[in-house]
Formats: sequence, C-alpha cells, structure tokens
Amino acid sequence: MIICRRERPLAAARFLFPNPRGGSDDGGRSMKLGILTRNPHCYSTRRLVQAARARRHEVQLLDVLKLSISLAEGKPDLLLRGDSLGDLDAVIPRIGASVTFVGTAVVRQLEQMGVYTANPSLGISRSRDKLRSHQILSRHQIGIPRTEFVHRGRDILPAIERLGGAPVVIKLLEGTQGVGVILAETLEVARAIIETLQSNDQKVLIQKFVAESRGRDVRALVVGDRVVAAMRRYAAGSEFRSNLHRGGSAVAIDLDEEYAETAVRAAQILGLRVAGVDMLESADGPQVAEVNSSPGLQGIEVTSRIDVAGAILEYVSDQVQFPDLDIRQRLTGSPGYGVAELPVAETSPLVGQTLGDIGLRGAEVTALTVQRGKRLLANPADDLAVAAGDRILCFGRLESIRAILPQAAPGPLQPLADLPPMDHEEELE
Ligand code: ADP
Ligand code: MG
Repeated sequence: MIICRRERPLAAARFLFPNPRGGSDDGGRSMKLGILTRNPHCYSTRRLVQAARARRHEVQLLDVLKLSISLAEGKPDLLLRGDSLGDLDAVIPRIGASVTFVGTAVVRQLEQMGVYTANPSLGISRSRDKLRSHQILSRHQIGIPRTEFVHRGRDILPAIERLGGAPVVIKLLEGTQGVGVILAETLEVARAIIETLQSNDQKVLIQKFVAESRGRDVRALVVGDRVVAAMRRYAAGSEFRSNLHRGGSAVAIDLDEEYAETAVRAAQILGLRVAGVDMLESADGPQVAEVNSSPGLQGIEVTSRIDVAGAILEYVSDQVQFPDLDIRQRLTGSPGYGVAELPVAETSPLVGQTLGDIGLRGAEVTALTVQRGKRLLANPADDLAVAAGDRILCFGRLESIRAILPQAAPGPLQPLADLPPMDHEEELE
C-alpha cells in the first residue's frame, strides 16, 4: 500500500538503480526505495543498494543537501531539481552527524508525506544528542553509566564527586566516532578540560568511567525487535575508546540475552528501528554508552559475516505498510479526549483492583498499556490486577481519566494587584 501518491509519478529512469526485472515474482513486494546519503560510494550505501537490488527494489540515492522542502496548505512535498520526488514507498535515512539538522528535516518531511522511513526523525534527533538520549533512557530500567550535566564552573567538582571522583569520561554532546570523548584521569585535569570546552561554548557530559570495560565495548546491530549481529571492539594500544575509527579491532560475538534485550529496548525507547547500540561491559551488566541511528555496516558485516544490509531491507519491506505516526497527535484531535498516564503509588486505592473494577470502559476510557518494571503489557485485559508502581497509559475522556485520580480542583484565577516595572532585558519570547 502506498500511503501518499504524488501527482506526478516518478519515471523509472530517474532511479539510479532501476529494477531490472520490473516487479517481483518471488512473492515479495517491489518497492521504490530512497536511500538518504551523502556518500554514494561508501561501503554501507553500496551494500544497501546491493541488498535492495537483490530483492528487485528500485533504488534512488538522495543527497539531503540537494533536496528542497516545499510546504503549502495540505501539501507537504520534497523536490529534487524542482521536481517532486514521486511516490517513494520507503526511505532508509543514513544521516551523518554533519547534516543532522537538514537530514532530520528531510526525514520529517517524508513522514508528513506518509512515506515510511526506516528510522523516524524523532529517533534520529534523540540519538544524536548524548544528553537527550541518556535523559530519555534514564527513566527506564536500562543500564547507563552514571552521567552528570552541569553548566556553571562551580558545579563541576560536586558533579564529579557524585560520580565517585576521577577518572571520569567527558563527552561532547554531539561527538561521534570517538572524537569528543576524553578520559580525564584526575580531578584537576577533568575540571580544566570541562572549563576549557565550556568557555568555547561546547556542551559536555561528565560520565563515570567504567574502568572494568576500559578499551572494550560491545556494538549490537538492532534491526526491528532483534539484534542481527554483534561484535566486541577492542581499543588499540593504550587508547580507551574502542571505536574502529580510532584504530580499534573487533571480533564477532554471540550476544548474551541480557545484552541483546538491553540493546533492543534502548533502540525502541529512543524510537529507532535500525540502530547500532554501544554497550560497556560493566560489573553490573550492560551499560548503554550510545545509540547510533546511522550505524556503519562495514565493521559489523566484515567482522560477523552476517548480511546486515539484507536484514535491514527485509525489515523495511515487512514494515513499509506501517509508517510512523504520532499517536498522541492522532488521539488528541477531538476536544475533551486525550492520552494520560496514571502512576499507581504504593498507597493508591487502585492497587489490587482489576482494570475492569476501576470501570475504565464504562467511563469511555481505554487502557492502552501498563508499564510494569521492565515489561510493557500492551492491550491489558480487564482482569489484570493493578500493582503498586504500575503506570497505566489511557486514552479517553480526560474528565473521566482525571476522576480516577482524585486531585484538588484548580482555584479561580486571581487578578494581579501590583505589577513589577517593565523589564526590556528579559530574554523570553
Ligand atoms: P562516540 O559517539 O564517539 O562513539 P561513545 O559514547 O560511543 O561515543 O564513546 C566512544 C568509546 O569510548 C566507546 O566505544 C567506549 O569504548 C569508550 N567509552 C565511552 N564511554 C565510556 C565510559 N563511560 N567508560 C569507559 N569507556 C567509555
Ligand atoms: Mg560509539
């Protein structure tokens, strides 16, 4: 199913790699596939093209910097040399760190046009920023190295102390390939580095150094809801960063259940379907150092000898009928209706009652999911008993949802008596 048909269909000749046989005769579905990339000749792009052609898809390589985003009422469009891109079925974004802004804008545009994208723009944006991604991960039961973010010079030392003191790892929020990841062995060195970076307007994370994993990490390639390949990477010499771009080496591994589950959940929480998850092997189990939304394929394929590009193509053609949609946006279109999460405290009267007892359905409220520790129970049945610590995600009449959680009604708005003098300095909108 093509969600969004463009007015001017794209001529097959516009595709750099037209489908040689026209359509598929193996029961699979031939797609018009775009690969967003700035590097047509790099290994990853070539492998994705090869895997797509092997499945008889038509492939077009699209340089995000050459596309124009065109907006008119009810008609979001994407143009290449003035022409509409046509009815793409799916896009695989390979957005390098240097083009994050434009790249995510293009992916967002494709989402508005109803084109399936292997990774949604929101997931890419979240994963690009190490602070943002760790903030999101930290509310879930996912191992991460303890991390601090401070702004003022005087807050640096207390932050390092909260991490248990030096050594610490300092990371630029948007660094990649090991660049911008520094090991500071002493407190003084850490403070000097952080102050220098901050005085140059660079924002940094301070992270606990996972000493037992020095010079080693695990890269898991997640596609959909499984890890398709994994490797352990070793840093070169005295280097502590194990990135292959820093001269590291790698061996294929069979991933432990715990590591595989952590990788898949981390990708899902950030909203990514294709991801390279970097995990440190800490004494307490896996700790996610980073989630990459455009993982390189060369290292992982050469090391594991697994056809990762093929797995990505299989996944995309399975999922192409289900483009990402903003569920909250869809569900809140009707006034008075909305989505809300009910946290169940230890002392809540809901504890021990079943969802049926609470009477959600009678009040036009549907329980969509119940988050219980690490488990997400989708479409929970009426006879599910509510436990302390659950978080029940509901959709329905907001008034009814609020009635389930009794809270004080807001008081009347008060008129202002004395206004402070006008302040033209304030930096607000
Ligand atoms: P990048 O985006 O530059 O790859 P990462 O967060 O993945 O940034 O860090 C690069 C490498 O540094 C990791 O692969 C790992 O080997 C090492 N590393 C990162 N964070 C830590 C840490 N907290 N403790 C120990 N080693 C780390
Ligand atoms: Mg990394």
